[in-house]
This record gives sequence, C-alpha cells and structure tokens, in this order.
Amino acid sequence: MEVVTVMKNKKKFAQEPNFVEKKTYRPNDVKETGLAFIGHEISEDGEAMNQFLHYDQLYTIRHGWNSKFFKGLIEGKIMGTKCPKCGDVWVPVRTHCWNLDCNLEKTEWLEMPLTAKVHTWTIAGWSGRSSLKRLPIVLVYAVIGDSKVAIANELHGIDPWDVEFEMPLKIVFKPKEERIGAVTDFHFEPADSWSPSPMNEEKERIKKLVEPVYKWVKTMKQG
Ligand SMILES: [Zn+2]
Repeated sequence: MEVVTVMKNKKKFAQEPNFVEKKTYRPNDVKETGLAFIGHEISEDGEAMNQFLHYDQLYTIRHGWNSKFFKGLIEGKIMGTKCPKCGDVWVPVRTHCWNLDCNLEKTEWLEMPLTAKVHTWTIAGWSGRSSLKRLPIVLVYAVIGDSKVAIANELHGIDPWDVEFEMPLKIVFKPKEERIGAVTDFHFEPADSWSPSPMNEEKERIKKLVEPVYKWVKTMKQG
C-alpha cells in the first residue's frame, strides 16, 4: 500500500493589514441601535399579534483576497484574475483556478478592458424601492473581456426590446466622487459601434409586455 504524506504548511493567521485610507459616507441621520423591539400591534379580537423589530447594524465586509476588485471600482477600473498555469480569466474574480489540472493554483491580478458582451439578459418589471422609478430595468449577465464567467449589472441607454445576445457593450463608471467600491459604481451601455436591428415579431411582443410598466412608472410621484 502506498503511503501518502500530507504536508502541513498552512500558516494559521495572515498578518493584519494596516488600513489607512478610511472613508465614511454614512448619512448623518443613521443611528446604530442594534436589535430592538420598537412596538407591536394586537388585533381587535386578541387572536393575532405583530411585533416590530428594528434591525440596524453596522456590517464590515472583509474582501480579503478579492479586495483589489473593489478598490479597482473606486479607481474606475475592472480588475480580473488570471491563472498563471492555464490562462483562464475571471470577472467576478476567483482567488484560485477552477480547472482541476491546475490544483487550486493561486490567480494573478490583471486590469480588464472596459468592454463586454451580453451573455444573457432579463427585463425587470419590478424592483426594490431604490430603483422603482427606473423600471423597466434591463439586467444583463455580461462577459467582460475574455472572462470565463459573466457578471450581472444594469444595461442603460437601450430600449428593452432591442437587447440581443452577444451584443457588444461598454462599461460606464459613475463620476469619481460618487464611487464607493460597489458593483453599482458602473453599468453597461451598448458599444458606440452597435445599432439595434429592425423591429420584428419578438421585439413587438416584448414592447407590448413592458408598456404597462412605463405607464405605471409615470403614475409615480416625482422627486
Ligand atoms: Zn488554471
């Protein structure tokens, strides 16, 4: 029988980074109160009770080895990772190669082009409160550069019925002072060279489907 020795070479703790560039953009009126029961209501017949729990906490998202991706967003860059063995590239990033032959090879960072292609998409006719007025929203899974995976984000500057598979996109960042290191720092737009194909049956069908959404959005209070 063959004896396999597993080497124990893992360090238990990484050295703690020295964080220097701290920025706060929390609105002034946000108070962290933690978990608190702030009220209740009881039905007339005494059979039902609702309790109101206020859940307000400060979270720290530690990006660890993925940090350069989020820092890149602040700088208006899309950072990807690449396996030095097989050359596969990823955005969203992977810290280790997924190919079995590469034996979890640690990936290297590279700056991606600000161009992408639609892999697939959907049209959102409903959303959370923050984006209700922008409905209907085109959400795409797009492949940035030669990434092996697709990343989700909004596609602006296009009528929902004009989106096509494989259509070329450009990445547009918010102005520098508005970026916070979140994927919402950028969105996709059709590439300058692209123009939509003429109307057809399928486009008409989608147009009809989204018409009530446009009408509904118009009824919303402005401001
Ligand atoms: Zn690899």
